[in-house]
Amino acid sequence: MPDPTDPRCAQPPGAFHPVIDRNRCEGKAECVAVCPVQVFELGVLPVEARRGLSLKGKVKGFAHSWRQAFVVRESACEACGLCVKHCPEGAIKLVSRGS
Ligand code: SF4
Repeated sequence: MPDPTDPRCAQPPGAFHPVIDRNRCEGKAECVAVCPVQVFELGVLPVEARRGLSLKGKVKGFAHSWRQAFVVRESACEACGLCVKHCPEGAIKLVSRGS
């Protein structure tokens, strides 16, 4: 995984993509604000996706009206790491396309 604190680690678009931990995201939209290539949008977690959450995740989701970030332009990700660095919940990780 690229070092999210080192901007020299940027990769060709699509080599890595962000994955959001649904049990951690609180929809604070820091990732939406910092991503230079608009990979994220804010939305509402669908009912069917709420069932798989942990108890803590369900409590968090309910408390935040189920607002969460969603990856809508995965292939645009350049692995700059800004979303990982700025997410206040530590909910984002970058994974390589092949993994
Ligand atoms: S690593 Fe950079 S380009 Fe990729 S989603 Fe996060 S902020 Fe956007």
